[in-house]
Amino acid sequence: MLDDYLSDDDNDGGKPKEDDLEEEHITKIYFCSRTHSQLSQFVREVIKSPYGDDTRVISLGSRQNLCVNEAVKKLKSLSLINETCLDMQKKGKKSTGQDGPSNKRSRLTTCPYHKYDVLQDFKDALLLEVRDIEQLVTVGKQMKACPYYGTRYAIPAAEIVALPYNTLLHKSTREACGIKLKDNIVIIDEAHNLLETINNIYSVEVTGVQALRAHNQLSQYEKKYRSRLKAKNLMYVKQILFVLSAIVKCLGETQLKTINDFLFITQLDNLNLFKVLRYCERSQISRKLHGFVEKYSDTEINTSKLYSQIFFKILTFLFLEKPAVVPMREFTDMSSPLMHIESFLQALTNADKDGRIVISKQGLLSQSSIKFLLLNPAVHFTSVVQEARSVIVAGGTMQPISEFTDQLFHSAGVSPSRVMTYSCGHVIPGDHILPLTVSTGPSGYEMDFTFQSRESPALLDELGRILVNISNIVPGGIVCFFPSYDYESLVFNHWQKTGLIDRISKKKKVLREPRKSGGVEHILSQYSTVIKRCKSFGTTQPQTGAILLCVVGGKMSEGINFSDDLGRCVVMVGLPYPNLKSPELKEKMDYLNANYVNSEGRQPGQIHYENLCMKAVNQSIGRAIRHRGDYATILLVDRRYNRNNVVSKLPNWISQHLLKLEKFGLALGAVSKV
Ligand code: SF4
Repeated sequence: MLDDYLSDDDNDGGKPKEDDLEEEHITKIYFCSRTHSQLSQFVREVIKSPYGDDTRVISLGSRQNLCVNEAVKKLKSLSLINETCLDMQKKGKKSTGQDGPSNKRSRLTTCPYHKYDVLQDFKDALLLEVRDIEQLVTVGKQMKACPYYGTRYAIPAAEIVALPYNTLLHKSTREACGIKLKDNIVIIDEAHNLLETINNIYSVEVTGVQALRAHNQLSQYEKKYRSRLKAKNLMYVKQILFVLSAIVKCLGETQLKTINDFLFITQLDNLNLFKVLRYCERSQISRKLHGFVEKYSDTEINTSKLYSQIFFKILTFLFLEKPAVVPMREFTDMSSPLMHIESFLQALTNADKDGRIVISKQGLLSQSSIKFLLLNPAVHFTSVVQEARSVIVAGGTMQPISEFTDQLFHSAGVSPSRVMTYSCGHVIPGDHILPLTVSTGPSGYEMDFTFQSRESPALLDELGRILVNISNIVPGGIVCFFPSYDYESLVFNHWQKTGLIDRISKKKKVLREPRKSGGVEHILSQYSTVIKRCKSFGTTQPQTGAILLCVVGGKMSEGINFSDDLGRCVVMVGLPYPNLKSPELKEKMDYLNANYVNSEGRQPGQIHYENLCMKAVNQSIGRAIRHRGDYATILLVDRRYNRNNVVSKLPNWISQHLLKLEKFGLALGAVSKV
């Protein structure tokens, strides 16, 4: 075991890995989408198409989706599943032949589903018939072969590879999966949030608890093996400890820094981060550390003895926290914190202008955090556009397209003449949607949801009257979006006090989006049950359906479909502009102002701010129209929806049918005719 720790190299000893055996890649399409269910939907469409019988299609997914080893799959997080699986591949021990490991020690046996010959048979079977992820898992279980590795082996011979965003957009993940973009076609679907997605993939946040735990584990590791580690390895271990204590120390003050300033104040500029990262990669120190923690999981350690006196004093001074006695076993159920910190170090190697460091101090060190914020997504998109033969970004709500062309393609070095845009209408006929702006309520009160007036009781009362009127005439479900959870609570509490909820309840059961994801399924099932029940009872009872109060950007605004009776009317209350005081948003706007030219006299930062709002609106209102036979009313409740700069950012299929009616009575009349 010690050899393992002494080694600077990967402990495969230079033996070729199975997946190192090169196979020729045929020309293919990489089809990438946001969620696993969207990819499955795409694969099902391929099966239905005339090409379904003679196209070789492979779906890639995470271990969480594809692992068939029950003992590994049931682990708490994706990173734990990944680490355990990788650990198992690296161990040469013989498998028990049973359904995987049942305790920590047996976790380190080879996975029984990862056998070369069986995987080759599985791969051949995959290429014969198109299957979605669920079917891949079923076949994997039948053949006792791992679908995660089996699908990877099938990539070279596949003609279409369906894969999630992360696998395509994160360069090292892409390379680790054996994906070769050169001369192939890339299609990125559901691309409306592509810029934000790339930013999120490459922005890394490290919490105080992660930094402390990594420091803690590595200190123990260093203490135990100090006398036996090679001098060079010991030097790198000490450098990583220095990095970790620098991260913990800087958590004592909320601040925003450029990368260079951060490196300077933490004195990390004295280290060669590239060499430290290379050491981490070659020695696989984070995985070894995880194994070390598992091995000594029953040891109790006094954390105060691990920290230097100065570090200990700083911790106590900054956070008034006394480091405690921590059983090592507490660390074994979490993924390797050092691995996460390696990603943060990697982020620090970005160019100074392309990112910022946001340090947020909270009352407790464990809740404080440091985040690398990527400002320029194009740096990580460049390799995709340079390698691929062509890249198609597609989506239902891509407006405004200039963001993609300017911030992704042009910034990634693609000349404007090579970027083509194509826009078409929605599959549903124009008379199946009725989008309306509502500038005044039933008593003529102006609908003004700007920050200054949005809490006015008179405004909330008038909004309530709009919903009562709409509930009286719209059948089935109404989905009403608010700009934030806090605002939704404020409105709901006001309506409860004034009795308005009771008035709406006469016609619609009132349900609210829960703040925690855990309750979403329950609320959705209640919502759909009520609507179905009301429909089956017809006019024999007063209630005609339900109304769901949701939040833009919340759990209901993306990925959940309110098709048919679940969404006969969508109400958008106000314009959900993001918080201008957010330091991250300010930095992004400043970055855009400094690096892009004004458009029509307006600064790019301001345009970005408006786009964030309108993209969120477009996502939310798009929830109700889900297929050709569907129909719905869309009420945009705020006088600002009449402005041309707002209307121009709605999707064409909505803006071309938009009715701007002066009086609420006219709007109500139009809705009643649907
Ligand atoms: S090899 Fe496959 S089945 Fe085995 S643990 Fe890893 S992902 Fe799961």
